[in-house]
Amino acid sequence: MKIYPIISYSVDSNTCVLEDKETKAVCIIDPGFSQRHLERIISAIEKINGNLKFIINTHCHYDHIANCEHFKGVKIFMQKNDGEAVLEQNDEKILSYFFGMKVPKINGIEFVDDNEIINLGKTTLKILHTSGHTSGSISVYEEKTKSLFSGDLVFSGGVGRTDLASGNFEQLKDSIDKILKLNFKTLYPGHGDIGNYKDVKNIRKFL
Ligand SMILES: [Zn+2]
Repeated sequence: MKIYPIISYSVDSNTCVLEDKETKAVCIIDPGFSQRHLERIISAIEKINGNLKFIINTHCHYDHIANCEHFKGVKIFMQKNDGEAVLEQNDEKILSYFFGMKVPKINGIEFVDDNEIINLGKTTLKILHTSGHTSGSISVYEEKTKSLFSGDLVFSGGVGRTDLASGNFEQLKDSIDKILKLNFKTLYPGHGDIGNYKDVKNIRKFL
């Protein structure tokens, strides 16, 4: 698998485009919300001539999900708690208002849960339910490259907020302990720079 990280220039989330080299199957993790960010994603997929199979949203926040509207007919994986918030257009949880925007209308959501495996061509992606930032937050682990996509659970220099709608600091700490049991090398967080296992271990000490 090859990873194309699209690090946000502003308030979008980071995005990762994953490509299964053998089959050219491609998926997007957290497509962000701005037009400029969307164009960067589309151009990354075009450059590799990839075949977009699905999107994974790590959680329901507007800055991570709104660009899903542009990928009509593409399957979108979310954990149930956050997926339902999107289907119900629950803006207390989605936070569109926070960005001065309308609640996005997103179809094609399929629920996934802890330990579920999603296949991208011949690549195996493992879903972990890592609540704390939101109750339905997930992380994605790919074993061969030892990559962890953490959404807003943890960044290379801190952790996600837990004071919003369904946030819970105790759950966030437990979720960080859960990912520290994995043998990941590289951390691809929802915001900020790419990190590694040691960064997360250090952050956990101060929580
Ligand atoms: Zn968030």
